[in-house]
Amino acid sequence: MTRRGWLHGLAAVPAALGAQVQRPRIVVEEVALRLRHTWTTTMSSSDERRNVFLRHTRDGITGIGEGAPIVRYGENAYQAKDAAESLISTLGHENPLAYVDYLREAFRRLTGQYAARAAIDISTMDWVGQKHGIPLYRLFGLDPAKAPITTFSIGIDKPEVVRQKVREAEVFPVLKIKVGLDNDEETIGAVRAETDKPLRVDANEGWKDKETALRKIRWLESQGVEIVEQPMPAEMIEETRWLRGRVNIPLMADEACRSITDIPKLAEAYDAVNVKLSKSAACAKRTKCCNWRAPTA
Ligand SMILES: [Mg+2]
Repeated sequence: MTRRGWLHGLAAVPAALGAQVQRPRIVVEEVALRLRHTWTTTMSSSDERRNVFLRHTRDGITGIGEGAPIVRYGENAYQAKDAAESLISTLGHENPLAYVDYLREAFRRLTGQYAARAAIDISTMDWVGQKHGIPLYRLFGLDPAKAPITTFSIGIDKPEVVRQKVREAEVFPVLKIKVGLDNDEETIGAVRAETDKPLRVDANEGWKDKETALRKIRWLESQGVEIVEQPMPAEMIEETRWLRGRVNIPLMADEACRSITDIPKLAEAYDAVNVKLSKSAACAKRTKCCNWRAPTA
C-alpha cells in the first residue's frame, strides 16, 4: 500500500464517523508501505517500510499522525503500535487542547518509543489545528515563506539505478545522496552524470575513521556538495570536531542528535543538526530545536 492510498481510503471515514462519535475514538494501525525502489543506506536495505498511523477522532474531527520506526534506535512497527495503544485509554480521558501537558504525560510514559511518540504528537497537533481552524505554522507563530528548501533523498544503489532515481526526482531542486561505503565516488559520479543540482550527502556514520572522512569530504568539495550529514559514528564527537576544522563543507548531525539536550555538546563538532519528527517527536519542541543558538561569550 502507498501512504497516499491509505490516506485516500480514510477520506470518507472522519466526517461520517465524527458525526456519531460521543466519546473520543483512538485507533492505531500498522501499515506496510511499498517502496518504489529498494531503500539502502549504510545501516539497512528494504523494499517496504512498516509505519504506524494513529487516528484520533473527537468532536467530529479526526487528527492523523504517522510514526516511522527507526532500526538504528532498536524500533519496529509492532512495538510502536503496542506502545501507542497502551496510552489509548489515558489519552481518551485528557483534553488535547491543553496539548503541552497532554503530550508531556504521553511522552513520559513512552520512553525510547520515538515512532509511537511521533504518531501521537502529529495526530494531536493535527486535531488541535483543525479544532482551531488554523494551520500549525500559525499556531506556532511561524512564517512559511521563511521555511528552508528541503531535500529529496536518493538511497545507495547500482550506478544505473542511481541515475534512474535522479531522473525521477527531477522536480526536486536539492537532492540528498546516501553515501558511506567504498563506492561513494561511483555513486556521486552517477548523480553528476544526470544533474548539476546542489547536492547534500548523508554518510549515516559510514566513515569509520577521521582520515577516511577527511579524504572523502575533500573530494566531495569538488563535486558541488553543500552539506555532509553524519560523516562518522555518533559517539565520535571529538574526531568530528577535528574534521570540522579541516573541511569547508558544513557538517550536520543526525544520529548524534536525538533531542534539544544533545545540541550543546555537539556545537563545536557540527554546524547544523537534522531535526526530524520521527526521532524527536513533538512539533512544538522541533521549533525550539530550530531556534537554538549557542551562547555567546
Ligand atoms: Mg541522516
